[in-house]
Amino acid sequence: MKDFTLRSYRRYLHAIRSSFSTILRFDEFLFSDSKPDSFCLIRHDVDRKPNNSLKMAEVEAELGIRATYYFRAKPNVFNVPVIREIESMGHEIGYHYESLSDYNGDMFLALKGFMHNLNKFREVVPIRTISMHGAPLSPFDNRDIWREPKNHALLINELGILGEIYLDIDYSDIVYINDTGRNWFSSKSNIRDHVATRLNLDFKNGDELYNYLAVSADPRLVFQIHPERWSDHISDYYLNYFTDHIVNSAKYMLMLWGRDR
Ligand SMILES: [Zn+2]
Repeated sequence: MKDFTLRSYRRYLHAIRSSFSTILRFDEFLFSDSKPDSFCLIRHDVDRKPNNSLKMAEVEAELGIRATYYFRAKPNVFNVPVIREIESMGHEIGYHYESLSDYNGDMFLALKGFMHNLNKFREVVPIRTISMHGAPLSPFDNRDIWREPKNHALLINELGILGEIYLDIDYSDIVYINDTGRNWFSSKSNIRDHVATRLNLDFKNGDELYNYLAVSADPRLVFQIHPERWSDHISDYYLNYFTDHIVNSAKYMLMLWGRDR
């Protein structure tokens, strides 16, 4: 089956549902003091194309699965009707913040901008957890705002956020699988939004991942998916494919060019 389509995503969800009796949103996970022995957390970064997220949310809702969607505050992503609709299906909406990279590392302005956007979201839906946007082209790591203890205290105690999911969760014994790089090689992704886990797993293809999820899944798992990469629409599929593989495509074209000369 072709991977990175809603059909293949649905198949992964079936496998997850058969292996995990507890599928939690991040707010539910962070809220409870006693963590279950086995759980799966499904997390989405809505970096662009909010309508793709809506379709994914519908597939999950059909299967009785609730996930967490981290939305950026950018005008092309902050789509109020889509945010409301996804939330109404029982999914959690979180804020995918990038305040420090937005303000070129200015801590004061970043904090102010963060609070402004948080309020903007909260006029639409409740926000209980946050997740940084990796901002791969920026020299600033957006998490750094909260490394200052007084800022972290402000986040939790004053702003009522249950946690920043990179900083406030210990991933050491949680398997973390993500579609970053449009493949399932977790050890290959060396970008910022990677977590420190002892359990790094690589899958050669979607079938291998499916079998793992269906038959031999570890008891604690995070499944991180970027909905903009997943589509059943054929032109969209190939556009995504080439966006994600732009470097490989360029290399391939250079190779062809070299061969024809
Ligand atoms: Zn992101």
